[in-house]
Amino acid sequence: MGQQRLTRQKLMNPITDRTVQSAGKPLPTLQVLTPDPGPDQLRGALAANPPLEPSESFLAGLAADSEQLENATPQEILQYAVDRFAPLFTMATAFGPEGMTLIHMLAEIAPATPIFNLDTGYQFAETLELRERVKQRYGIEVELKTPDTTVEQYEAMHGGPVYKTDPNRCCFDRKLRVLHEAARGMHAWASAIRRDQSDDRQRAAIVGWDHKFQLVKISPLANWSKKEVWNLISKHDIPYNPLHDKGFPSVGCWPCTRAVQMGEDERAGRWSGFAKKECGLHTS
Ligand code: SF4
Repeated sequence: MGQQRLTRQKLMNPITDRTVQSAGKPLPTLQVLTPDPGPDQLRGALAANPPLEPSESFLAGLAADSEQLENATPQEILQYAVDRFAPLFTMATAFGPEGMTLIHMLAEIAPATPIFNLDTGYQFAETLELRERVKQRYGIEVELKTPDTTVEQYEAMHGGPVYKTDPNRCCFDRKLRVLHEAARGMHAWASAIRRDQSDDRQRAAIVGWDHKFQLVKISPLANWSKKEVWNLISKHDIPYNPLHDKGFPSVGCWPCTRAVQMGEDERAGRWSGFAKKECGLHTS
């Protein structure tokens, strides 16, 4: 999809900005080709064929559409997205309950929609098994988009797990860079965020321009509640991650996810111990 800009990344520790040492011995020189998100014109819809430019009139049109879709159902919003942007319309999912409801809806509305998962290498086995269940139930093969380095290479490059010391850096390298690659050449992507999940998400438009990834972002579930999501899952027996039944309302990578206690916020178990509450995909 689209073109790739590749730059060589040196083996530097992101904290000390010095060459990584291990037990007194320098690690072997490992050079890894790392995709650089590059300047705006190489991102998202600007790199599409044909490119989609966020002109003032285009953005005004999106804002009008978003306003009009405020009272639409998620299915109607997805239909709008498919009618307007397919085949350059895609969806990212971490197989959360919201993502599963959108997959269920897309299976009825437009099953050929390309859906992908950012496979950081740190996902729970239960999450990856859910991908198989999606294939069995809907015949939809969610594509795994992976970083250029394996977990082993990445941790060797940085002298250990980066999620322990600098989770923002780890999320950038293993999620955001990968999403930049996945979004390049597309016109629009769907996300499964709900406005009531966090202060950042509160401001999500139903349809708007995603400045970070430079393409249209559609959030069909922006106005839905957690209860509505789970009602749909129960009604249609939609497959979901079994970890949700074990105290994990929100499931991300295993090192950065813990079960939550009664009364805790639904995202309290993500990056517990850090101020971080978002991986950066849905923040401006
Ligand atoms: S959630 Fe944790 S392990 Fe996953 S990419 Fe972010 S910091 Fe790394």
